[in-house]
Amino acid sequence: MKLLENKVAVVTGASRGIGEAIALKFAEQGANVAFTYLSSDEKAKALEAKLTALGVKAKAYKSNAAVYEETETLIADVLKEFGKIDICVNNAGISKDNLLLRLSPDQWDEVMDVNLKSVYNMTKQVIRPMMKAKTGSIINMSSVIGIMGNAGQSSYAASKAGIIGFTKSIAQELGSRNIRCNAVAPGFIETDMTSYLKDGEGASAYIQQIPLARFGTPEDIANVCLFLASDMSSYVTGQTISACGGLCM
Ligand code: NAP
Repeated sequence: MKLLENKVAVVTGASRGIGEAIALKFAEQGANVAFTYLSSDEKAKALEAKLTALGVKAKAYKSNAAVYEETETLIADVLKEFGKIDICVNNAGISKDNLLLRLSPDQWDEVMDVNLKSVYNMTKQVIRPMMKAKTGSIINMSSVIGIMGNAGQSSYAASKAGIIGFTKSIAQELGSRNIRCNAVAPGFIETDMTSYLKDGEGASAYIQQIPLARFGTPEDIANVCLFLASDMSSYVTGQTISACGGLCM
């Protein structure tokens, strides 16, 4: 028996990186998957084909998670196409690193909108159908940077810390409706977002700080999301699970 048989999942920002690994992992476990992206049309089409080849229903939606109206349209379209939403993974995110002295208001706003407002936008849309169905799992992608902070990442850290507070609040608001809401806090994961760390001269300095002595893979994070999406975590809500090789304890 697959862990997500007959479930419908929505994953934001899945054309590459962690989101793509989550979409694939969920499909392998039997879920039908609707996923979003912003600009990578070809990658999104390729993922849609890969998911469909796994024998599930899958559809890519070009939809900006930072724009409320777009998420409203997205969720209406997904419900029409898939009939229900059991799982929502708010994964879309960006980083615009700069020391505060040089951080412009526009850079601040962009990170807040894509990383934090998007989580409000999507969660607000999915809770109605989940409440009706009396079941749901919402998974928000935070970061260890939201717990530890990091010089040059004040906007990113603030957005990811905000996700943790939001997650705990939604868990409290909707627990009685059997809707769970949890966050995942990845450490350094090998994706486009961190390629400058891995390939740079400082890579070994980062690895020295990680007890498991390696960067994580997108699949490491997808496995945690699978646990949180499935009934294996039926008594887990309001939590932030760090998946960081021990970087943050
Ligand atoms: P990534 O490789 O840069 O991929 C980002 C994904 O998000 C892409 O699919 C991109 O779509 C999509 N996206 C960006 N802005 C969007 C928007 N406004 N609306 C919808 N989709 C949007 O990033 P990643 O490393 O996989 O990170 C995924 C999540 O994990 C992010 O929230 C990130 O903050 C978090 N995280 C990552 C790490 C890490 O080390 N990589 C660590 C901690 C937390 P397009 O391809 O179409 O642009």
